[in-house]
Amino acid sequence: MRWKRRKRSHKAEKVLERLDEKLNRQMVGSLLACVHCGMCTDACHYVLANPGDTTYAPAYKADRIRRLFKRHKDWTGRIFPWWVKAGSVFTDEDLEELRDIIFGKCTNCRRCSLNCPMGVDYATFNRMARGLLVSVGIMPEGVAVVSKDQWEIGNQMGVLKEDYLETLEWMAEELQAELEDPTVAIPIDKMDCDVVYSINPREVKYDPRTIADAAKIFHIAGENWTMPSEGWDMTNFGLFSGDDELGGAVARRLYEKVIELRGKKLVISECGHGYRSTRCEAPNWGKFDVPFEMESSVITMLRYIKEGRIKVDKTRNTRPVTFHDSCNNARSCGLFEEPRELLNIVCTDVREMYPNRAENYCCTGGGGAMSMSEYTPLRLKSAKIKADQLKDTGAEIVVTSCHNCVDGLTDLIRHYKLGMEVTQLVNLVANALVIEKAGVAAEQEDEVEVKGGEG
Ligand code: SF4
Ligand code: SF4
Repeated sequence: MRWKRRKRSHKAEKVLERLDEKLNRQMVGSLLACVHCGMCTDACHYVLANPGDTTYAPAYKADRIRRLFKRHKDWTGRIFPWWVKAGSVFTDEDLEELRDIIFGKCTNCRRCSLNCPMGVDYATFNRMARGLLVSVGIMPEGVAVVSKDQWEIGNQMGVLKEDYLETLEWMAEELQAELEDPTVAIPIDKMDCDVVYSINPREVKYDPRTIADAAKIFHIAGENWTMPSEGWDMTNFGLFSGDDELGGAVARRLYEKVIELRGKKLVISECGHGYRSTRCEAPNWGKFDVPFEMESSVITMLRYIKEGRIKVDKTRNTRPVTFHDSCNNARSCGLFEEPRELLNIVCTDVREMYPNRAENYCCTGGGGAMSMSEYTPLRLKSAKIKADQLKDTGAEIVVTSCHNCVDGLTDLIRHYKLGMEVTQLVNLVANALVIEKAGVAAEQEDEVEVKGGEG
């Protein structure tokens, strides 16, 4: 059989040209290693929610990208294209069809990667393929909008600087009233702090209570901390869109701000993709040698308790809770024991969901899926797997250390009428905080001294 020469669209040409730049050892290994054993098939929530439809199988979806590699970069595909199922893209419609697979039928959760005996990491080259399409402007509209906001406004929800600063001021006032202490503050751009605290713009826009709760914990712990006035967004849409340039630029803004403030440690609030991007991936995207420590706020809170800097009373959180592992935190960053340890310290009734930790199912809002409204019906259909998992726990509240998962879970809980609430560890820790009023603490110390004297 002879390979027929067909004219390609400009975008198809560019995608194939750029494929070369994106290939590295890890990517090529995953593109070559699949033996089509099918062991990853049932790992995918899309497969489980669409029984009998083989087009959702990870290996099938991966082959839609692999065929390009085989045809253009692998000698077997150049000589025997029919034998190794090599193929190409020619038209913009071909690219759009690919878009609906790589954005619409995969959340890049990496559950199939974990279940592959050959070490194929489909999610990694799915992200690479997203980046190729994004580079020629083929992507879901939501991805284009959010990426533009993060490039131009500096955060992925288009929050203006004045709105951000006003929200921090408002939260500081709320805390002053709650703690009856006019000295409580959310310090902005304070130099030489031990902790610079970065957040997800969702917290400013939809969930400012998480900022107040974190501030309360820092205040009670006596932390020398600050929040940056700019470059404060620790999320990174580059992870979802596959655009390494965006990913690098976004993270550099935050890294450079911490350096400008001479901060000793960057603490990242509860956000799976933000944590993975900022701490693990973005130093490579941005080619930046990060000179300070980075920590998830989950670890910070746990440390404060262990060091005796804050005291908590778990009887303040008695409703049954379960924990949802964010794919990015757990599967990609190994952060699954610390949140459980913390949860068990601040709650009385913790119920595990199965499977969990690295084997947990995606909230189905991962990989930027919440921004891609055209795929919402498919997302919610695939969320049945997560809904069943949640229901089986019998818990009233699902706790997660990821803002993206909060949205994904909230949406599926509403859709499947589960009647559960979604919250984060910061809220539970803040609720369990034992706050000793200065006068009361001093009185208690005096009492101890007096008792000591009597003995
Ligand atoms: S488990 Fe690995 S080798 Fe088997 S089909 Fe899936 S990706 Fe291919
Ligand atoms: S990365 Fe997740 S969503 Fe994508 S194919 Fe694998 S298991 Fe399915």
